[in-house]
Amino acid sequence: MKITANNPSRKSWLKVEIASDFPIQNIPFGVFLTKEDVITIGTRIGEYAIDLAALHQLNYFEGIPLTDDIFMQNTLNDFISDGRTTWRLVRNRIADIFDEENPKLKENKKHRDKVIFNLSDVEVLLPVDIGDYTDFYSSKEHATNVGTMFRDPENALFPNWSHLPVGYHGRSSSIVVSGTKLRRPKGQTLLPGETQPVFGPSRLVDFELETAFITTDANKFGKSIDINEAEDFIFGMVIFNDWSARDIQKWEYVPLGPFLAKSFASTISPWIVTLDALEPFRVAGPKQNPEPLPYLQLEGNHSFNINLQAAIKPKKQTETIVSNSNFKYMYWSMAQQLTHQTSNGCNVRSGDMYGSGTISGPTKDSYGSMLELTWRGENPIKMSDGTERKFINDGDTVILRGFCENDKVRIGFGECKGRIRKAK
Ligand code: CA
Repeated sequence: MKITANNPSRKSWLKVEIASDFPIQNIPFGVFLTKEDVITIGTRIGEYAIDLAALHQLNYFEGIPLTDDIFMQNTLNDFISDGRTTWRLVRNRIADIFDEENPKLKENKKHRDKVIFNLSDVEVLLPVDIGDYTDFYSSKEHATNVGTMFRDPENALFPNWSHLPVGYHGRSSSIVVSGTKLRRPKGQTLLPGETQPVFGPSRLVDFELETAFITTDANKFGKSIDINEAEDFIFGMVIFNDWSARDIQKWEYVPLGPFLAKSFASTISPWIVTLDALEPFRVAGPKQNPEPLPYLQLEGNHSFNINLQAAIKPKKQTETIVSNSNFKYMYWSMAQQLTHQTSNGCNVRSGDMYGSGTISGPTKDSYGSMLELTWRGENPIKMSDGTERKFINDGDTVILRGFCENDKVRIGFGECKGRIRKAK
């Protein structure tokens, strides 16, 4: 089925600024709360939130097989379960409804009042009930930087790294939507030169510039999925900040990996941008050497050219951009990550989330964490207000952004932001 929603020459009768992340070609999915305290599934065009439950009730999705209450839900999980054909039909229909050539909703004020809200009048919520969350470690530059810092520059990557997408199972209960207030975590750390640990506020809170993908039900328990089909089970992507307390991490991670240093909070952007919307921005990933084992081999372009950015905004000050990276630097593709995840028969469900791992580029200004940008704090970054940062201070807001752009259209994710408040 053709993705007619992606037609780059289409224009909406809703006003969209040229630099907007959300033109009519995007049509992401999210969940929001209206002023009347109604939670609904919606989409976003420009600075408008669109109530899909209201559109459905007014019969605008006629002919598409949808249950009556599919959009009257607190999460997207059931809609995501409906599968790729339905996502495509719904996105294509939304594009038609808001096309400047289509008068049906445009000229029906009563309907418009029920369907369209100013974004500033709604509260965006966590879009999915995330059952399971995996975080990968798939940027070669990031893994090499960390391996160089903490182990041996000559053997920065462990031998397994080039053969499989290394990952771990994270905590989903503390994944929060952009804008949620956070507290500096407390934990056990071993201070330099000491032999006994102490308990208290982390001194080294960091961000990790990542993306994440959300899956639909992919495989039954005991079955694996074929790499050629893996992308069919990916609903879409969000920008993801995998907040990390480096001092807690350093003390606790041996031998089982990250634990409380990561699980205090993880922030995602609120609008899930579908893989369909990202289709025009497909690119080849880095060349893989050694050649992956057959179950991870895939022909064609399976990365995406998504510009990524991290900024720090001290309290009451302007922001400073600290990193510009790109999703295309990822060594392992999402298809490979998902295939590997199910290769042992582990089942993947609707609403599961898979983090990319910190996405660092090849240059020093494209690293995806303060750990790398300041090289463990050795080279602090100057903020525009004159202060310096080694890691994240109390009161700082970290803002992550992502967008794709060609000469015809810009598809973005909006902001993924969170402010670190003083530990209690
Ligand atoms: Ca991570």
